Amino acid sequence: MVILKKCEEYQLDLIKSILKESLGELNFFNDVKEDSRVFIKLNLVGPFPKETGITTHPVILQAVIQLVKEKTNKIIVGDNPATRDMIYTLKKCNLYDVIQEENVELLEGTIFEKITNSNPKIYSTFEVSKQMVDTDVLINLPKLKTHTLAYMTTAQKNFFGLIYGLDKSSWHAKASSPLQFGEAINDLYGAFLEKFKDKQIYHICDGIIGLEGEGPTSGGNPIKANCLLISKDAVALDRVACEVASLDYSKLFINKIANDRKYGNGDINKITIIGNQLSDFDDVKFKAPKDSLSHIGLRLLQLKPIKNLLLEHPKFIKDKCIKCGECVKICPPHALSIKKKEFPNIKSLSCIRCWCCAEVCPQNAIDRTRRPLLGKIFLKTDKKKK
Ligand code: SF4
Ligand code: SF4
Repeated sequence: MVILKKCEEYQLDLIKSILKESLGELNFFNDVKEDSRVFIKLNLVGPFPKETGITTHPVILQAVIQLVKEKTNKIIVGDNPATRDMIYTLKKCNLYDVIQEENVELLEGTIFEKITNSNPKIYSTFEVSKQMVDTDVLINLPKLKTHTLAYMTTAQKNFFGLIYGLDKSSWHAKASSPLQFGEAINDLYGAFLEKFKDKQIYHICDGIIGLEGEGPTSGGNPIKANCLLISKDAVALDRVACEVASLDYSKLFINKIANDRKYGNGDINKITIIGNQLSDFDDVKFKAPKDSLSHIGLRLLQLKPIKNLLLEHPKFIKDKCIKCGECVKICPPHALSIKKKEFPNIKSLSCIRCWCCAEVCPQNAIDRTRRPLLGKIFLKTDKKKK
């Protein structure tokens, strides 16, 4: 079941009342006991202010904390941002003041625990932040966003933040094609579901202001979708979110893999939607990331030598770049380098097109080169299927 609610503004009382009713439908106030420990998982991908639509909005966080406090005060809040420290990122995202005001505990992300997927495709064991999984209830607070590599990211991919800081980027090197990455993300998600077998997970996705185009960070553009989605099934929530945003489900490969593995319900015809209906969001039309690929294109790109002939690679916008080197630090195959006071350099043959560099760039200074002619010919033959 997915609860879909129209909500047009970040107004604390309004959001609290919508969430109170919706969480009540999902039995939240019985599941959470006086001594329950609750972890609130933010989307804290980087230091971006609330109006950019990139990270968890402070009003959503405050509403959730206040509702949890009706049952328990054992609350921890946090995420593992890809760069810099969490306090810096929380301040930039306008979230730090809420955490101070509500007087809740902050994640100490560097204490780890191993979680295991007993039936993996690529990876079986994951070292994740202990406080995130050593809890009775987890509340996941993703944003409704497009994603250059994953097409769209909402509830399920927000669990990538279980992995600590820069360790996330090494994943892209290990699972360097998008399809492998999709399998690996699902391996992690499966391990997480096993860990939470007897515990409760809630997902609250904020699409009041979402992100379209070259997400999930500063390459995308904020767009109003005026919705909140609430569910206990991340796969079903993501499937419904794809419809709300009018995006092409054939390209949502992480969700398709999850549905095949029965980690949740990705079949739109079998998902019960309550609250508003999809037709109430007919006017919401997110721009997809440029040249996003569907399944056949993705399979072709598993062949490493072909990638360079078919795909665009990052290029730097010199007017915007401040030579901070964040992109160089995160690049998984070390395809980027930078000398003091110079712009970054790319060895395009080493680039695996993970777009981590664009994700962490604070200046939105990383664009794409044009897709090579061969790529235009081969990858464009893969038509949209719905
Ligand atoms: S240059 Fe950017 S897209 Fe290429 S591998 Fe490095 S981080 Fe990924
Ligand atoms: S491209 Fe962005 S992340 Fe890289 S050095 Fe320039 S400003 Fe920093």
